[in-house]
Amino acid sequence: MIFDYLFGVLSHDMAIDLGTANTLVYVRGEGIVLREPSIVAVQKGTDHVLSVGSEAKAMLGRTPGNIVAIRPMREGVIADFDVTERMLRYFIKKVHQRKGLAKPRIVISIPSSVTEVESRAVRDSALQAGARDVYLIEEPMAAAIGAGLPIEEPTGNMIVDMGGGTTEVAVISLGGIVYGRSVRVAGQKLDDAVGGYIRRAYNVLIGERTAEDIKIRIGSAFPLEKELRMEIKGRDLVTGLPRTLEIGSEEVRGALEEPLQHVIDAVKMTLERTPPELAADIVERGILLAGGTALLKNLDQRLREETGVPVNLAQDPLTCVVMGAGRVLDESTEDLLKLVRPEKEFF
Ligand code: ADP
Ligand code: MG
Repeated sequence: MIFDYLFGVLSHDMAIDLGTANTLVYVRGEGIVLREPSIVAVQKGTDHVLSVGSEAKAMLGRTPGNIVAIRPMREGVIADFDVTERMLRYFIKKVHQRKGLAKPRIVISIPSSVTEVESRAVRDSALQAGARDVYLIEEPMAAAIGAGLPIEEPTGNMIVDMGGGTTEVAVISLGGIVYGRSVRVAGQKLDDAVGGYIRRAYNVLIGERTAEDIKIRIGSAFPLEKELRMEIKGRDLVTGLPRTLEIGSEEVRGALEEPLQHVIDAVKMTLERTPPELAADIVERGILLAGGTALLKNLDQRLREETGVPVNLAQDPLTCVVMGAGRVLDESTEDLLKLVRPEKEFF
């Protein structure tokens, strides 16, 4: 008992949003202390990790043949257990070492599509990295808490969390996910669609980072008040030489259409499967849009148009998951802790 008390005071408990694109760490009493891409660079053919996070992202597409940059959480499933574990350990140590002292308690949010085996691996890695207790919370639940939705009330709330690898659609009521669906279409598929379009339309090859840049700067889900243009650079597939060209937001929107439609269908299907009383709540209160891809221009408007339901953009779509997990940690009341994957055997 006294030990628990001491640990509580001395350790820097943390909340981690282990996302497919970005990992964020929140430390109790301090706020967000780490924000880095979920990327690991390893030496090809070995398991030798060269760099993690921002440093590894800078290597994407620029790596010599003997270095590979891996996104271990790609598509919300843990594509590479071992690398995920090392990435998580690296981030925890980076934050923890700075602080030292006792073993922290850690709340980790994970995509709801991860399997039992994968979530166990996440938990074990955190324990190995020095955690005293590990609590796993599902992403949409954390996003809802972070955005300040009244999740414990008997009212239906719908969250659409569109990140890098997955879009999680969930209906929450009375502190539980009533209905949830996870599709493996999100920001990265939009980047792929942009890259594919430029290749087909102009015979020009662009890198992953350029594709993301185009999407962020001029990509949209619904006509813009003022359409945009942008100059891009790539490699001409015919001549093999670098080439500069100008593209417009209308054509980029066209390129994004197919993956976007996939997500919109998932939202519509979730609305159709929601019990009538909860659906009525959602029609009244609206859908909460979170995750980095929620920032795609006019995505909220497009969803509103397609579903007929009000859509609210989270105040800070990129941080609401870690802020929600952080709140669970800060308050660590029985009430909130019971939201933490209660059906799993971890406790
Ligand atoms: P995850 O939770 O899966 O790690 P995030 O919520 O961090 O993902 O979102 C990352 C995704 O958001 C990336 O695909 C990124 O390109 C996209 N993104 C970030 N900012 C914008 C923006 N302004 N417009 C469109 N997409 C964006
Ligand atoms: Mg996320």
